[in-house]
Amino acid sequence: MDAIPQSTITGISWPALPSPEASARLSIMYQLGRTQWWSAEALETNQFRQVNRLVRHAVSSTRFYHDRLTAAGIDGHTEITPEMFLKIPLLQRGDIQSRIKEMTSTAVPQGHGRIGVARSSGSTGQPIQIYSTSASQFFWMAFSLRDHLWHKRDFSRPYAEIRVGVENRDDARWGPAVSRVFPTGPAARLNIKESIDTQIRWLQKHRIYYLLSYPSNIREMAKKCLEAGILLPDLGQVRTFGETVSDELRDLCRRAWNVEVKDMYSSMEIGYMALQCPDHGHYHVMSEGVLLEVLDDAGNPCKPGDIGRVVITDLHNFATPMIRYEILDYAQVGAPCPCGRGLPVLKRIMGRQRNMMKMPDGTRRWPSFGMRQWPCAEKINQIQIIQKEIDLLVVRLVVKAPLTATDEQGITAIIRERAEYPFRVTFEYVDVIEKPANFKFDLFFSEV
Ligand SMILES: [Zn+2]
Repeated sequence: MDAIPQSTITGISWPALPSPEASARLSIMYQLGRTQWWSAEALETNQFRQVNRLVRHAVSSTRFYHDRLTAAGIDGHTEITPEMFLKIPLLQRGDIQSRIKEMTSTAVPQGHGRIGVARSSGSTGQPIQIYSTSASQFFWMAFSLRDHLWHKRDFSRPYAEIRVGVENRDDARWGPAVSRVFPTGPAARLNIKESIDTQIRWLQKHRIYYLLSYPSNIREMAKKCLEAGILLPDLGQVRTFGETVSDELRDLCRRAWNVEVKDMYSSMEIGYMALQCPDHGHYHVMSEGVLLEVLDDAGNPCKPGDIGRVVITDLHNFATPMIRYEILDYAQVGAPCPCGRGLPVLKRIMGRQRNMMKMPDGTRRWPSFGMRQWPCAEKINQIQIIQKEIDLLVVRLVVKAPLTATDEQGITAIIRERAEYPFRVTFEYVDVIEKPANFKFDLFFSEV
């Protein structure tokens, strides 16, 4: 049965008469419920109506975009077509770091509400900070709710988050994205600094049904549960964000807990960019909130099957307009989805540039190293592969039992086979593989 919104009129529970705020949210959900079925053409037409509003605003109220877009032949009156849009230079992280003041609007329309700050930690580069509005937040929450509705979540079930930046606490309700519209059950939040053992005990104690965390953390938990024979009979679904999800992780969650993984592609500075299709393992772009481009090395749009750089335009942030922002992720474009939704498809989110392997012939590729393939997987607690030089890979390991020369040779052979190149491979044994401050873990990264 569909969830019934919270009614705020005494004596009336069905159909609900929600609060003004919930009603506004539901009016967006009604629209999103319909626009998802629009054709790709209809979506693009309306995206460009919004792009034109955004660009006009950016040109007229920020020094940065005024200069940049005028130089690209666009002024406040130009009608921007998809072809013309491709000529706008990409916005880089460095631009935001050094020129945030000039990028930020001096005339945010009043209806956009309060201006707040959004920070993105970045795993390697400097953190960035931009401004956003209540209107942006409103869309953020709408896409969050869309994810719940797409995946038909039962809001009465216990919900948990294990992530950075939260205090350990129990709440009576899920959180504002859902609770301001629908009645919900309890939620619990745990900081990811807690050990894996503590996390598992905490999940058991709270009898959590929906769990949100990072793929690398879920992987460690699932491995631990499998090894120790710990069942989480209450767990019904895992939600992930922040890192790349592999088929291997999905398989691991099925084996450990008999649950499916539902992934989201989001960032602190943009919000939701793509959500997993309710019926398939790939993603739909949130075209009502972002214009997401996947570009090849020459800056042209990629075709289905191709992998390219992700470039994002946030359609609704009128505080710090984000126009053609190179977010430093790579994704593979997918063919239209058989589910019938017109929202564009991303087949896979690949990760960041540093997760690409540089080949001695100058090409780059995405390596696929999964845990299960190692010949001595049962001896390995954790593994990370780092490209230190153009022909050298270092395998960093936390092991339960020492590896033999044969084990190392087996790993080397698999790495060379997967990489399709006879890399030099060395081994480094450590007590723990430290995670960066934002807890995003890279199974593979390149320092070259
Ligand atoms: Zn679909």
